[in-house]
Amino acid sequence: MTITKKPETRLAPNSWGLVGGDNPFEYAPAPEATDHVRIEPEYGLFIGNEFVASKPRKTFTVINPATEEPLAKVAHASKADVNRAVAAAREAHRSSWSKLPGRERAKYLYRIARILQERSREFAVVESMNSGKPIKESRDVDVPLVAAHFFYYAGWADKLDYAFPNREPRSLGVAAQVIPWNFPLLMLAWKIAPALAAGNTVVLKPASTTPLTAYLFADVVRQADLPPGVVNIITGPGEIGMELVTHPDVNKVAFTGSTAVGKMIARAVAGSDKKLTLELGGKAANIVFDDAPLDQAIEGIINGIYFNQGEVCCAGSRLFVQESVYEPLIDKLKARLSTLRVGDPLDKNTDVGAINSAGQLAKVQELVDSGIAEGAEIFQPDCELPDRGFFFRPTLFTGVSQSHRIAQEEIFGPVLSVLTFRTPDEAIEKANNTPYGLSAGVWTEKGSRIFKMVNAMRAGVVWANTFNRFDPTSPFGGYKESGYGREGGIHGLGAYLDLSGGDGR
Ligand code: NDP
Repeated sequence: MTITKKPETRLAPNSWGLVGGDNPFEYAPAPEATDHVRIEPEYGLFIGNEFVASKPRKTFTVINPATEEPLAKVAHASKADVNRAVAAAREAHRSSWSKLPGRERAKYLYRIARILQERSREFAVVESMNSGKPIKESRDVDVPLVAAHFFYYAGWADKLDYAFPNREPRSLGVAAQVIPWNFPLLMLAWKIAPALAAGNTVVLKPASTTPLTAYLFADVVRQADLPPGVVNIITGPGEIGMELVTHPDVNKVAFTGSTAVGKMIARAVAGSDKKLTLELGGKAANIVFDDAPLDQAIEGIINGIYFNQGEVCCAGSRLFVQESVYEPLIDKLKARLSTLRVGDPLDKNTDVGAINSAGQLAKVQELVDSGIAEGAEIFQPDCELPDRGFFFRPTLFTGVSQSHRIAQEEIFGPVLSVLTFRTPDEAIEKANNTPYGLSAGVWTEKGSRIFKMVNAMRAGVVWANTFNRFDPTSPFGGYKESGYGREGGIHGLGAYLDLSGGDGR
């Protein structure tokens, strides 16, 4: 797919030192090949290491959000299928997985990690086709991080006693895991790797729009020769997710998605003995002080909000700029925004791909309309969008006030709201003025200021002079309406263990 830009936007990225009207720069299309990828016409549920039809047999169609073309049909699970999957996971936990020594579980996890690396190109292409994210992100961020998670938790599988000294770590049993569509494979890895390392078995429900890499992962599970029932994957609508998490034979629930559904799940499992972690929405503040290196900050701001089309729970969607650098920063930001290439997710030069669904695109448009109606000033680069598919121009709002919906609500799209501040205390006050508390960013050259801000911000993760950095060793999670519990690192392991036994009680 070729994206034609108007002459005034034909500027090479300034970070490449090619800025200026004298350097018009065209990108030839550079689409990633898809001939090495095989997407089946239809996928059954993955239960007990077999792909099986749902009972009664029912399917729904999964599309490519960049073309609106169908990709495959997938099984629509019923309540009876949820029972089958949980039973398979329970039996695998009882008969094999919980009995294996940690070093044996580790071997399987290492094997999965290595297979994922070997098949990384295939996974990256399918992820981009199904989710709409640019191939350079699925190839260079998602899939490498997925493998890293399996390597990391493989390393812990035989060291649980060292991870939690004076305890007797025991697996919980069956984990029910419901994941969203913005990082389909990465969220799968965040959920499955620690669960398996800790000796649990899982039933995972991917989002209905993005199940394909989960089913590709099911193939890896078979290739790695995991005992049947250790990993089960079922597809179906939200109600099936609810059937799964409330199933009486489930011991642990892990959910990533919207705050609204997170609250419903919290209410539904309240009073049961299920362990619960919730990773929900966000409205992160990215705060730029006047002593920050501006060019570096610009790249961080761009990465913070336009990475993955802004469909990121920890996206830096509220930019706070110290008043004294407001004008130069906005000028640079607009210039940089105009260099972003929007279009075919499979093109290696694409920066901003397709929004995941028509519904999400409508939500982004509705919130952008509200920003205009409430009096904020909109800036969008003059790029052309493909005729088909769910695309949205990278968008910048200035003149935003704290009460605007675009400053309060999670947009989950490529839309940045810019606000200003004068003092660090004002920045803290405004940054914390949100029901969410997932992440934040601070840009300054002063170490002492970083420490002050990090401690004052009510956010689970705070990045300093960078943004959207992820590492399997580092815990991730929120405060307030962004959820509770941590994923990643040793904290993420603890969430899948019963630590009530031992001297440390
Ligand atoms: P949801 O929270 O509805 O979806 C996330 C996952 O939960 C999907 O697997 C979904 O299944 C499942 N689900 C939906 N309803 C239920 C339910 N009642 N019980 C159990 N599971 C359920 O997010 P949306 O896709 O509707 O997105 C809406 C908004 O949520 C976005 O605009 C964004 O603001 C936010 N969001 C935040 C995410 C984050 O990472 N924090 C991720 C995704 C969205 P199915 O796909 O079949 O509906």
